[in-house]
Amino acid sequence: MNAEIIAIGSELLTPERTDTNSLWLTAQLNELGIEVTQKLIVGDDRDRLATAIAASLGRVPLLILTGGLGPTEDDVTRDAVAQALQRRLLFSQTICDEIDARFARAGRKMAEINKRQAFVVEGADKLSNPNGTAPGLWLDVPGGMLMLLPGPPREMMPMFSDLCLPLLRARVPQLAIRKRFFRVAGMGESDLDALIAPIYKPYTNPVTTILAAEGDVQIHLRARCESEEAAETLVEELGGKILATLGARVYSLNGDPLETVVGHILRDRKETLAVAESCTGGMLGARITDVPGSSAWFLGGFQVYAAEMKARLLGLDQKTLDEHGAVSEAVAKAMADSTRDRTGATYALSITGEAGPESQTPGIEPGAVWIGLATPSGVDAKMFRFFSGRNRVRKMAVQTALNLLRFRLS
Ligand code: AMP
Ligand code: MG
Repeated sequence: MNAEIIAIGSELLTPERTDTNSLWLTAQLNELGIEVTQKLIVGDDRDRLATAIAASLGRVPLLILTGGLGPTEDDVTRDAVAQALQRRLLFSQTICDEIDARFARAGRKMAEINKRQAFVVEGADKLSNPNGTAPGLWLDVPGGMLMLLPGPPREMMPMFSDLCLPLLRARVPQLAIRKRFFRVAGMGESDLDALIAPIYKPYTNPVTTILAAEGDVQIHLRARCESEEAAETLVEELGGKILATLGARVYSLNGDPLETVVGHILRDRKETLAVAESCTGGMLGARITDVPGSSAWFLGGFQVYAAEMKARLLGLDQKTLDEHGAVSEAVAKAMADSTRDRTGATYALSITGEAGPESQTPGIEPGAVWIGLATPSGVDAKMFRFFSGRNRVRKMAVQTALNLLRFRLS
């Protein structure tokens, strides 16, 4: 079954507020095997909203509205639904009494405008709201269902979970869902897609989604079938083909980030890591220590941003620095080597590069980064060219360093 969501509120059309409700609702609906095919944000405008509601109901059998159920003039969801369905709004004395009682419990008197919240679209069932004044509404309409939920997430979420989910479960044909989640490092989104699109394109079930961040691509597979076995067979089949193609580029099958994967390998092998960072200024150490328990494998390191600190803290030869420049193979290797020596760690990673936007080093392009790795069997360094700004260059450098170590460990 397909659904649409309309988030209502003029504040959601400003740069200050984000519609988070529809993300949460989408996750809930997906769990039931319901696909969200469109979502929309509409300001507090009755005519525009009524048009949007009527159009949605012409496309899908399930429409969820959130927001606009408050007591003030700008809360127009009830009116817009009545207009779209050409139904009347009826005053409910019961709801009015409940709102009144809620105010009384707080030692306050209900304001006249709160009576607006006691109006119900003809034929709707009330969804009680223990966390606020506005009740939600559930409507069966020809060919479908319509839900009106409050805007505040702390009211909307329990109302959906406690009242709407059981109703939906009873009406929506139950499908079993099985998922797979792979994380890939060391290749970009387009290269990855070029490789696996021929594998997943023939499948409409499972649905494949690819999400990319700096140096990290996530592949999500979701199968929906009559039985759990059928869904499992499908994700296993497609997942198996994708894994076989990507091989060691897949670093995580359970969602763990790279720092966790690498950290746990080190922990299991009782080995340790130290770092020396120049252009990333501590970002690598921060990622590694994001992982709970990282003191078991991470010793620490050196933040050697200025060339002088590379000499002072790591004992790099001034001649090496002068001759090769701070962003060079020789310096990346010397940084890793010296870090391993000085800390006694099994492995040491080093990062030295030109993060940009402008180059501070003659002859070095912004985005050029050397990453060094010292191991018990020697030291090596590799040059990378990253693009698209300082922030991305630094994040790519950290991700790539962690991935180099992962490859070395596996
Ligand atoms: P309303 O029900 O329209 O009176 O909304 C009340 C408050 O709920 C708003 O001021 C927002 O802070 C919050 N809210 C409304 N809609 C959303 C949404 N789609 N996502 C997150 N918060 C929302
Ligand atoms: Mg509002």
